[in-house]
Amino acid sequence: MTNLMAAIALAVLASGIDASANVPIIRVSIVPGRMDGSRGSGNVRVAIDVPGVHVDAGQPLFDFPTGDDLVVTDARGAVDIASRGAGEDRFYVATRAVDGDLRIAYRVAIRNSVATGGTTPIFPRVDGDGFSALGMAFLATPHVAGSYRLALRWDLSAMGPGATGVSSFGDGDATVPAAPVDRLRKLVMMAGRLNREPAAGGTGKFAAVWSGDPGYDLRPTMRWAQRLHGWMVDFFRTPDDPAYRVFARENGGLNAGGGVAFPNSFFQTWGRGVTGDSMRGILAHEMVHTFTANDLGRWYVEGDAVYYQVRLPWRAGMVSTDQYLRDINMTAYRYYTNLKIAAHEDEIDPAFFSNPWLNTLAYDRGALYFAQLDGMIRRKTGGKRSIDDLVRVMVRTGRDGETITDETWFALLREGIGEEAVALTKSMLAGGIVLPESDAYGPCFRRVAARLRRYELGFTVARKPAGTPVEVKGLIAGSEADKAGVRNGDMIALPLLTSDGPRRDFAATVTAQVTRDGRTFPVTWAPRGAAVDGYQWERVAGVPDSACRP
Ligand SMILES: [Zn+2]
Repeated sequence: MTNLMAAIALAVLASGIDASANVPIIRVSIVPGRMDGSRGSGNVRVAIDVPGVHVDAGQPLFDFPTGDDLVVTDARGAVDIASRGAGEDRFYVATRAVDGDLRIAYRVAIRNSVATGGTTPIFPRVDGDGFSALGMAFLATPHVAGSYRLALRWDLSAMGPGATGVSSFGDGDATVPAAPVDRLRKLVMMAGRLNREPAAGGTGKFAAVWSGDPGYDLRPTMRWAQRLHGWMVDFFRTPDDPAYRVFARENGGLNAGGGVAFPNSFFQTWGRGVTGDSMRGILAHEMVHTFTANDLGRWYVEGDAVYYQVRLPWRAGMVSTDQYLRDINMTAYRYYTNLKIAAHEDEIDPAFFSNPWLNTLAYDRGALYFAQLDGMIRRKTGGKRSIDDLVRVMVRTGRDGETITDETWFALLREGIGEEAVALTKSMLAGGIVLPESDAYGPCFRRVAARLRRYELGFTVARKPAGTPVEVKGLIAGSEADKAGVRNGDMIALPLLTSDGPRRDFAATVTAQVTRDGRTFPVTWAPRGAAVDGYQWERVAGVPDSACRP
């Protein structure tokens, strides 16, 4: 889903027996005060202890995203520090050489803010009597090379009885095996008197936690996610996966509903317009990332997440065949109507957050590519092998700690399918049109040519946060907005138009508040323009549902 940051799971934690028991250990202690849910504020004290540090004067010592009352010490006592850089790039240097055990202690004053941008907020936040935070916006990260074990310790005494602390590492205090220190940046934490599904004592590896009140029961959705997670553990052949935690919290901005994925964890937000049902799709998408994400291009990372996001729930019997077909068609519709359909893969990254056509192309083209590839493998092997087999090899290779690159994938394609698959991939990356075979999604569905209407708002507006009235300019004569009564010079307050909104849902309409001559009134129209040639899939009559799912 395009509302997500690019901070996608990359390193899956090493699992099983820790052969690194004598590796040095970084200790992180988190001491939250009492949180004030009504004001959305609170304080958390943090201390980070790093053993055996040797850093010369003036060299980078640690990144420091946020905090006050900063005190840094080493074996010789207080260390004077100076900041360099600004904002997200701020880091600290020591004015003298640092030797021995380094301690970085500080306080984070949390104050909830309302986000108006297009991405999911990652700042520390208070919901109810609890708080949540993400390492990269909360923890000082020391500039030390090599691997460290990591010990997380909670002191919840000030939060009152019943408070618990949960992190990407699982429940309560945790010590995890050696890994690069960068792992701190992707650590998600939440503490307070937490709601939890399943209730504490559940035996599975999945748990969802939240401290606030979304206004509806999150439990059915989280039970659905738990069941799907268990199914994916089997599907991706990862029975010894560590804990997986969903951290749900409010997003008071206009972009509620999105989330951000990290190793073994996921921030899911609720807010305006979000329901338990609408959360399911994004939870499925993000869980696929948890298993399959590697340090590859978006065509692979997002492509396989979109390809599997409803296919796996469908195969698990957790969504209907109609829901699966609808998802296939939304992906195909947005792809074949994409103004940038022939763009080279290299164009996507620089414009990923600024150009919605290129942003959505990464998701849709990749997903259709996986479908086409799957059909190719099944044909070549008489149905014995599928794309799942190749993806499982990638998952296993990553878990074994090997570096995975695009070349790893090319080698697998060459070996498993042949040059035909390599050629398809190269063509896709260069902007060639991807066209899965008619039966690529199974015997229940067939491809049909269709005229599809491209996304077209109908006018231009200055880029402003959703909900802020802006002037309508450049109204396209005869457009749906024109026909619905929008006029140049109107002040219009649009809802947030995310890539997952009307761009993806081709049946969706837009309703906006228009102000003209001192009068404000709603206008509704379908944001669709010229029709282009494309493809959709339809159900083949006579094939029973039971014969559909592989
Ligand atoms: Zn994604």
